[in-house]
Amino acid sequence: MSGFNEEYNTMGECDFFMRTSEFVTNRVFGSREELMDWVFGSREELMDWVHKLAYSLGIVIVTKRSNKRADGFKHKVVLKCDRGGVYKNADSSKASGTKKINCPFELEARYSSEDDAWTLKVISDQHNHQPIQYMEGHPYAQRLSDEEFSLVAELTKMNVPPRDILAILKKKNISNVSSLRTIYNARSKIRMAEQVGKSPM
Ligand SMILES: [Zn+2]
Repeated sequence: MSGFNEEYNTMGECDFFMRTSEFVTNRVFGSREELMDWVFGSREELMDWVHKLAYSLGIVIVTKRSNKRADGFKHKVVLKCDRGGVYKNADSSKASGTKKINCPFELEARYSSEDDAWTLKVISDQHNHQPIQYMEGHPYAQRLSDEEFSLVAELTKMNVPPRDILAILKKKNISNVSSLRTIYNARSKIRMAEQVGKSPM
């Protein structure tokens, strides 16, 4: 978990307190292209980025609330850590598998109609708990984006071994936490799709 600010670890008793500052998107960039990377074309794109980064850091981010326009379009979404909020009863804790301990971490995603783009603002980058150690086992973490799925299909056609496909995916996207199982699952999906395509009517 190198992504976490380690300054608190030297203080011993404050081990459980950490910051995930990686969500800050308004830093100084070296080039125009880099800046463009931090503006999102859609809410889905922004959420995908947030979820992937969160999982790579060992946290889970959920929607706290969202504001809709009259036509139903969500133009503002407030996101929180899944340990945010107050623990209410045993059932809700069981459903999510985590206890709510009022974690203050909060992000705000906003749509700008002027730019037709989404931006992300960090309200609080602080957590009152440790990261989850084995995010790789979480189903969300292993999801492939459409682009990644196409790449797996392409590389499979070229007879690239799954282990090498995984290495290529991770090289392209540092927040990719797929496992070999993800690649195997994608390959069997691809094969099934191929067979459907080949089967005589
Ligand atoms: Zn948290």
